[in-house]
Amino acid sequence: MTDIKSNFEKIKQKLPDNVLLVAVSKTKPVDLIMQAYNLGYRTFGENKVQELREKYEQMPKDINWHMIGHLQSNKVKYIAPFVTLIHAVDSFKLLKTINKEAAKNKRVINFLFQLHVAKEESKFGMSCEELETMINSDEYKELKNINPCGLMAMATNTPDKNIVREEFKQVKKCFEYFKEKYFKDKSDFKELSMGMSQDYEIAIEEGSTMIRLGSILFGAREYPKK
Ligand SMILES: *Cc1c(COP(=O)(O)O)cnc(C)c1O
Repeated sequence: MTDIKSNFEKIKQKLPDNVLLVAVSKTKPVDLIMQAYNLGYRTFGENKVQELREKYEQMPKDINWHMIGHLQSNKVKYIAPFVTLIHAVDSFKLLKTINKEAAKNKRVINFLFQLHVAKEESKFGMSCEELETMINSDEYKELKNINPCGLMAMATNTPDKNIVREEFKQVKKCFEYFKEKYFKDKSDFKELSMGMSQDYEIAIEEGSTMIRLGSILFGAREYPKK
């Protein structure tokens, strides 16, 4: 049995006040997630559109649902009516679609740019340079229904803590560059979503404001994560 209460309490004790815990509930059943809800947690992360949508429909409406995984443009419409934050915006095409679907729902959708820093080819995201080109384009400036709140990144999956730390430092550096140059007067641009079960402590030391924890809270997942 997974002891949800003690898992959440252990993490909570270690969290600085400015760091939000996003409880990653992917693959986990509603009754288990409800245990966390009943402890007072209201921010949950999912990485698949259909699962996110189903859980949103089944669970209390005061939950803040974060889409943390890779998102395909053609699926944005299913979550646009309710999603609180989209973590992994990794292309201009996706961002334009989010803007369009947000407008249809008369919403402004909060999102994070996903920065690619990991060594693995498979991790999505843009480089700091690509991001800057996008932000400077006229087309970007016309998007009125999106609200950039910061950066998200995933570090390389490696036991070498130095590599992980270096990558988080890179994210922080890019964040500070953007903050200073483009978002100085924008108070919402303040989030750094980095850190998972295996590397969240390093992420917090390097300036994370949102950690995305799954297995350490809810137990190992039955099928491997993508
Ligand atoms: C699954 C997932 C997590 C959580 O992973 P754990 O190792 O279980 O903490 C965090 N971020 C993303 C994008 C994920 O897909």
